[in-house]
Amino acid sequence: MIAKSMKKTEVKSSAKDVLKSDTKSAAKSALKSDAEPADIKSAKMVYFFDEGKKEMKELLGGKGANLAEMTTLGIPVPSGFTITTETCHMYHESGKEFPKGLKEQIDANLARLEKEMDARFNDKKNPLLVSVRSGAASSMPGMMDTILNLGINDSVVESLIKKAGNERFAWDTYRRFIQMFGDVVMGAEHHDFEEEIHKMKSKKGVQLDTDLNAKDLKELVANYKALVKKTTGKSFPENPREQLDMAIEAVFGSWNNNRAIVYRKLNDIHGLKGTAVNIQAMVFGNMGDTSGTGVCFSRNPSTGENHFYGEYLMNAQGEDVVAGIRTPKSMDELAKQNPTVYKQLVAVRDRLEKHFKDMQDMEFTIQEGKLFILQTRNGKRTAHAAVRIAVEMVEEKLIDKKTAVLRVEPNQLDQLLHKQIDPVAKKKADLIAKGLPASPGAAVGMIVFTAERAEEMAKKKEKIILVRTETSPEDLMGMNVSQGILTARGGMTSHAAVVARGMGKCCVSGCQDIHVDEKSKTVNIEKKGIVLKELDYMTLDGSTGEVFKVQLNLVEPALSGNFAKLMEWADEFRQLKVRANADIPRDAKVAREFGAEGIGLCRTEHMFFEGDRIKAMREMILANNEIARRKALAKLLPYQKSDFLGLFKEMNGLPVTIRLLDPPLHEFLPKEKREIDELAKELKVTSEWIIKISEGLHEVNPMLGHRGCRLGITYPEITEMQVQAIMEAACELTKQKQNVVPEIMVPLVGNVKELQNQKAIIVKIADETIKKYGVQLKYMVGTMIEVPRAALTADEIAKEAEFFSFGTNDLTQMTLGFSRDDIGKFLPDYLSKNILEKDPFAVLDQIGVGQLIQFAVHNGKSVRPNIKLGICGEHGGEPSSIDFCHRVGLNYVSCSPYRVPIARLAAAHAALKNPRK
Ligand code: ADP
Ligand code: MG
Ligand code: MG
Repeated sequence: MIAKSMKKTEVKSSAKDVLKSDTKSAAKSALKSDAEPADIKSAKMVYFFDEGKKEMKELLGGKGANLAEMTTLGIPVPSGFTITTETCHMYHESGKEFPKGLKEQIDANLARLEKEMDARFNDKKNPLLVSVRSGAASSMPGMMDTILNLGINDSVVESLIKKAGNERFAWDTYRRFIQMFGDVVMGAEHHDFEEEIHKMKSKKGVQLDTDLNAKDLKELVANYKALVKKTTGKSFPENPREQLDMAIEAVFGSWNNNRAIVYRKLNDIHGLKGTAVNIQAMVFGNMGDTSGTGVCFSRNPSTGENHFYGEYLMNAQGEDVVAGIRTPKSMDELAKQNPTVYKQLVAVRDRLEKHFKDMQDMEFTIQEGKLFILQTRNGKRTAHAAVRIAVEMVEEKLIDKKTAVLRVEPNQLDQLLHKQIDPVAKKKADLIAKGLPASPGAAVGMIVFTAERAEEMAKKKEKIILVRTETSPEDLMGMNVSQGILTARGGMTSHAAVVARGMGKCCVSGCQDIHVDEKSKTVNIEKKGIVLKELDYMTLDGSTGEVFKVQLNLVEPALSGNFAKLMEWADEFRQLKVRANADIPRDAKVAREFGAEGIGLCRTEHMFFEGDRIKAMREMILANNEIARRKALAKLLPYQKSDFLGLFKEMNGLPVTIRLLDPPLHEFLPKEKREIDELAKELKVTSEWIIKISEGLHEVNPMLGHRGCRLGITYPEITEMQVQAIMEAACELTKQKQNVVPEIMVPLVGNVKELQNQKAIIVKIADETIKKYGVQLKYMVGTMIEVPRAALTADEIAKEAEFFSFGTNDLTQMTLGFSRDDIGKFLPDYLSKNILEKDPFAVLDQIGVGQLIQFAVHNGKSVRPNIKLGICGEHGGEPSSIDFCHRVGLNYVSCSPYRVPIARLAAAHAALKNPRK
């Protein structure tokens, strides 16, 4: 007992080690160190652009660090300085007060900026205007605030007119400032300003902002000021230094605005301290027709093509390009309109891409023909572009293969592996409902409401969408012939979702907007006042959960070329093997095409639903004695055997893990009266008798009921038949000189004696069969680890089991005590109230369930050092869970065939990020 408990603590601390590389805890400990700012006076809170570099993102934010880097590179960047993210953190910690010493540091840097620019706040001859820009360590585009043209006031506007000799420009700059500052800092409504400018344009009978002249804009400034006074009760601040402090506070504050908080949550951004604030001399794109502003990418962010891509507008400032009021022009037009600036911009693009060694997303402004760069960052891109850019950059010798592999997010690949709705068609289409993105891809077809009808229509070569309230194993064949599946109920791990993912079929589940009436054959979408009937068309997007009413065009996936190359490189780096969960030869074939190195889970029960098999299965279940049961089982044997032959052939020498019968038997019995009557007739019994047997099989809690190895213990003849089928298939192929590696897996073991009981039967039948065929054949017997007790007694179980396969669906269910079929009822609350960060059935709970896995790995290996270890739950295809599997030293992960490439890439990421000793 003592020895055991010691072992436990040992494992616990090593489990913590494994968890350590978790970024969250690293971030937490980083935060801890500045809970008490040491000596504020000496702390450096402000960095002039030439004091920073790109590696200082954490402290200066992405924007600030890269502005600093570009300054050092000699790229034309307007001068400025950055207040650190730590300062923002201190500001919030102290109840929104500027930390001691900040003001002085700002003053000192401002003085330097004024000197460099030869311009000063409030100066009569050369007034300084600045932008005050947010920017955190992770890019959060548009989520936080930026204020342009700060420093202008009633007298500065006059100085500006004198200096620039351009009255319109000066008033335009002033009205822009009041609008931005009034909205962001003083809390006036953006909308009200828009209304004012709209009024002015109508009054003048013009369309565009640029059509307003100096006089109009001057009047607009007065109107704006009045608006601010009226709606906020405050006068507009005239003093630039006061404006600056207010703007800095507003940017600090924008770190915690709702949009930013939601964005961080949705994008999994944790552990950051706050936003930096960049104060930068203004350059002006609104000085007339030789000035302008734009955004550009060093390569095309949608296709990845190595072609300079971007948009710009002349006589414009800031976000005018993206505001959509005027139509921006393309980079190719800039080449014609202003070849000199274009050439300079191309040179900057080349320089920055070579320097950052990644596709850059840049912001620029042209002031009277002179180019300035205002921002650069690694550009966001589609999956398609990510793969192409990564591969081409290796070919251009810009990056190495490791970097290329790490550049593509495994989950992104999903977009590439399935059909997609043509993006152009989708933009114009009417969204009628939204559910969960249960299985990626897209599907278009006619609606049917039953599996039978789906099969009927499929025989006529029609494209079908199966719409159900929820699906059950009986719907399997119908699902199989459908293009896609839509259910009103059920979560991401509902039957429909799991099966659809296995089939690589598009599925939208838990679509609460729809009401499915299977009787009247209608789908009612009350919200939209739409009722769809049988055979109406529908298009599903399983990657987003969107449902459309019409037939939309789909585009095919592309798996060769760059994609294949990247996958090959990933394989060079990974240490985990990747297998697939596949039940039938067709799935196994897909899995092989996607690069699976074996089958990690073959669920034998899925073989029992097709055609005549279900009849024999039902006969077996309804049998009231062993003899009758054996007779029915004998009918199932040839079916099973032929399935295994198919699988083994397809896998051609790769290992195949076959799980013995697992689900509770009542799942196989018919539920509808018509079906019951039919079965009764066939078996020559009464319907009442079938109903009585069904009732007898009814369980209060079937998940914890008579299932898994408990079935094989009650009915050893089921195990016997299955093992015989497996071994006969294996022996036959061995005779034909084909390599076969069967791994027989006992489900739901929690007590070593259960395994001993089943293993005795397996070994007896297997050895007899091998002898009968007179062949040499190695097979393995192992178990799933899915009952917490199995994990806790892994050392005992490993004495009998040659392999463990962590069944993390059940293990999660039983460790957390959450029914995976009912979690949908409370998961949204758990997520919104921050009790859970993620759905534990989608993303492995590393701290809880993970600790059981690690414990079992450790104790299993202590008894059987070469024990084979894998995972076959849904988590086997989820990147963060795969990273965990790598770190705890599993041999392989197994996932649905369509996730195999994702798992291969994720396993490479895991290996590159955590090299095994
Ligand atoms: P975001 O992070 O939302 O992109 P930015 O801080 O990059 O916000 O500012 C938005 C835009 O404002 C920039 O793309 C640029 O066009 C303009 N801008 C920012 N600072 C300056 C400046 N110093 N001079 C001219 N334009 C600027
Ligand atoms: Mg920007
Ligand atoms: Mg299970």
